[in-house]
Amino acid sequence: MAEAKIRLYLDQPLAEGQALALGEGQANYLFNVMRLGRGDAARVFNGRDGEWRAEVEQAGKRQGILRCVAQTAPLVAPPDLWLLFAPIKKARCDFIVEKAVEMGVARLVPVQTRFTNERFREDKAQAHAIEAAEQCEATFVPPVEALQPLDRLLSGWDASRRILWADEGLLGQRALLQAEPGPWAVLIGPEGGFAAEERARLGACDFVTPVSLGPRILRADTAAVAALTLWQTTLGDWR
Ligand code: SAH
Repeated sequence: MAEAKIRLYLDQPLAEGQALALGEGQANYLFNVMRLGRGDAARVFNGRDGEWRAEVEQAGKRQGILRCVAQTAPLVAPPDLWLLFAPIKKARCDFIVEKAVEMGVARLVPVQTRFTNERFREDKAQAHAIEAAEQCEATFVPPVEALQPLDRLLSGWDASRRILWADEGLLGQRALLQAEPGPWAVLIGPEGGFAAEERARLGACDFVTPVSLGPRILRADTAAVAALTLWQTTLGDWR
C-alpha cells in the first residue's frame, strides 16, 4: 500500500480502529484544500502514540471522520535538550521555533532578558511547532512554555541539567563542547546580546558551559541553529 503523503497532527488518542473526529479547519484542509475523499488515506500523529495511517470515513465541508488503520512509525522522542531563547522579531522567532523542531529539541523555553523587547505568543509558537513537526516527519512536538524572566529561570534551575550558553563574549575562540552526557539546554541571547550583569550571573553558575560559535557575530536565529548543531553532533541523536 502506498504511503499516504499528507501528514496531520491531531490531539486525540490514536489506536487501531479508533475514530477521529475532525474539526472545521482540519476538514477544510483535508477535503477542500488537499481534496481527499472517502477511502483516501493520511498519516496522523499526536506527539504521543507514534504515526498512524488513517482512512477517510466521512468527508464533510466542515467536519469529517478518519479511522485509524495501522501504526506506520513508532514515537521517536528527541534527546533531552531544551532550547532557551530570547524572543526576537516575529518572522525570525518563527524561524527559531521551526528550526528547533527540525533539529530535535524536547522543549522550547522563551526567556525575557534585559535586552528582549519583543512580545511572545506561546499559542502561536505552539501552532508553528506543530506545523514544523508535520512537515519534517517528526512524531514528537516539543511543548512551548510561556515567556519567563532569565533571572527567575536561573534561580529555579535544576543543576543536573547543563546549559550550553552561546556566549558572544567568546567570539573567535574555538567552538568546542565537552561531551558531558545527561540533560542539557541551549541558551541563545537576543539581538542586543546579554547585559553585563546577565553575563556575570551566567558565568557564575557551575551548570553553565559558555561556548563560542566562531569568529563572526551570528544573528540569534542563526546562532540557535548553529548551537543546536554543535550539541546534536557532540551529544545528541546525530551521532
Ligand atoms: N549584539 C550582540 C550580539 C548578539 S547575537 C553583540 O554585538 O555582541 C545574538 C545571540 O546569538 C547572542 O546573545 C549569542 O547567544 C549568540 N551568538 C551570536 N554570535 C555568537 C558567537 N560567535 N559565539 C557565541 N554566541 C553567539
